[in-house]
Amino acid sequence: MIEERPTTARGGLKQLTFEDGLVLSAECKEVVAEAISTILDAIGQDPARDDIASTPLRVARMYDELLSGYMTDQVELLNDALFDVEYDEMVVVKDIDFYSMCEHHMLPFYGHASVGYLPNDKVIGLSKIPRLVDMFARRLQVQERMTQQIATFLEELIKPRGVAVVVEASHLCAAMRGVKKQRTRMVTSAMLGAFRDNPSTRGEFMMHIGASSDPLL
Ligand SMILES: [Zn+2]
Repeated sequence: MIEERPTTARGGLKQLTFEDGLVLSAECKEVVAEAISTILDAIGQDPARDDIASTPLRVARMYDELLSGYMTDQVELLNDALFDVEYDEMVVVKDIDFYSMCEHHMLPFYGHASVGYLPNDKVIGLSKIPRLVDMFARRLQVQERMTQQIATFLEELIKPRGVAVVVEASHLCAAMRGVKKQRTRMVTSAMLGAFRDNPSTRGEFMMHIGASSDPLL
């Protein structure tokens, strides 16, 4: 059966109201919603159909949350979270769950990040590292860049003797389409300072996070 579709397909958007979000203003959300409505129309769906009439609004609101990392206030994030301590052994925070969006396909990639550093004279509060990972994950990203950004940010912030970041993630753009390798996971690493220069430091970190191989060998 051929379905009759109204020619003024965007009528559904008119009754939607938008509010300013963290990243997207009300005006930007409206533009996103219009674009989603256009996509729905282009793929043969009636955007005014009851079941999907609110989809453009939902997607616009969702992007505001998924991209909130762009607006993370770094001063607030780190507020009073740096401590002077006489501790110079390795600090490791492992298996930090994250969700990000591949900028090539705008599909999710997700997994976990493990972060280690060797303090000079400062340490950062434990709860801040997962928030820092989120700050870089909740953007349009590529995994390699996200890994590097986390490492560089920590290095500049606490000037440690070294930083290590290992990220393992599944990419829906690889699992659902293209090569369709559902179980393939990508591992990226950034090793700075002592973690780059000293294989035994790196080895200790890799042992802590349960990794089976040295990323630089
Ligand atoms: Zn992709």
